[in-house]
Amino acid sequence: ELPRIGVFVCHCGTNIASTVDVAKVTQAVENDADVVLATHTMYACADASLAEVKKAIAYHRLNRIVVASCTPRTHEPLFREAGINPYLFELANIRDQCSWVHSAEPLAATGKAIELVRMAIAKARQLKPLTGEILAINQDGLVIGGGLSGMTAALSLADQGFTVHLVERTGALGGHLRDIRTTLEQDDAAAVLDDLVKQVQGHPKIHLHLETEMTGVNGHVGKFRVDLKKNGKTVEAPCGAIILATGAEPADTHEFLHHASEAVITQKELAGRLYNQTFEGAGKNIVMIQCAGSRNSEHPFCSRVCCAMAVQNALAIKKDFPDAAIYVLYRDIRTYGFREKYYKQARKAGVVFIRYDETKPPVVTDGNGLMVTVNSPDFPETIEIEADSVILSTGIQPSGDNRRMADMLKVPVNASGFFVEAHVKLRPVDFASEGIFLCGLAHSPKFADENISQ
Ligand code: SF4
Repeated sequence: ELPRIGVFVCHCGTNIASTVDVAKVTQAVENDADVVLATHTMYACADASLAEVKKAIAYHRLNRIVVASCTPRTHEPLFREAGINPYLFELANIRDQCSWVHSAEPLAATGKAIELVRMAIAKARQLKPLTGEILAINQDGLVIGGGLSGMTAALSLADQGFTVHLVERTGALGGHLRDIRTTLEQDDAAAVLDDLVKQVQGHPKIHLHLETEMTGVNGHVGKFRVDLKKNGKTVEAPCGAIILATGAEPADTHEFLHHASEAVITQKELAGRLYNQTFEGAGKNIVMIQCAGSRNSEHPFCSRVCCAMAVQNALAIKKDFPDAAIYVLYRDIRTYGFREKYYKQARKAGVVFIRYDETKPPVVTDGNGLMVTVNSPDFPETIEIEADSVILSTGIQPSGDNRRMADMLKVPVNASGFFVEAHVKLRPVDFASEGIFLCGLAHSPKFADENISQ
């Protein structure tokens, strides 16, 4: 058939029409070669307008349509339903690429909109109908990482009836959750872990691969082939989708005499000792230093969890040893959301919070015992605290294996080394590569509940 093109120009309310002269655009193209109909409408995507487009296709025997409107990202599928072969449709984006970016120049924007529509018409003239085909795809999922996020993702897929391969590098499930006993909210993390592990191990749809590493990936969405290596032997696991949940690592620092003095430990070590009741706090002076080795040029991000962990540990010490004196030296306290309640509780319990400036961090010296010196913008004089222990909030760092994994899966990591989603709002758990998804600490530092949600 010779082309019979219908052109529908949209006002998008005032989004387009307040800048672009929509009637003028329509007029400009109505006599172009092969254009049988050119019209404009207030909202092309409204049900009534779509019905009009369908009617016009039948009445004018249109075999190509051009819609000049907003973005194909959200609206292309809608217009492809208009009644002709979906591939005989072309969209001219005169909103995002014209009215929005040239709102100060309506005349020039109208000229550009005419050119954009003409280009779409020229392309529409060449379009050929295409038909879709249905291919069999592999519906199995493969989850890399058997920590909290990986187990949650595997169970979620398996409970929906899909077969899942859960691949864990070490010999046990649980990841960092194995080191966490309670949360700030006093949830029993160990019980949650036990329950999750039992569910995973007992699920008929989950194939567990412990002490197994992913060493290669081929294929595409619906048809991946993943190489899994165990005991020196490699097997190929076919799957349709991959979820990356490889977690992160606790960060370390050599600042503040960490590794030089036994009395300088991390919040994580302190939590372990409090749980095992091997921490001696009675009558002691305890200084916590936040952002230790964090939020600086080498480690520029905030680890999000360590302020809450400091508050949690401080409350636990105060509960067991009410006469302990606790000083928290911080840059900003980031006990965000409902966690603020616990920060207030800690202050009520007598924990002293002292702010320090990034440019003047506290100094820890070890002469006759530890001495912490800090200059706070909130106090005129230098503060010196004799400390029995110094507890460092060292935060979280990306896993050292991330770049190798990123190369293998062809997915990006950010400047810090964490994996990056396709779009923070529109595709928050997808990679840009189809069929590969991410969750948990591999993406960024987060609390357990946030990892589960993700
Ligand atoms: Fe620093 Fe607190 Fe962020 Fe940890 S959570 S990096 S201690 S601001």
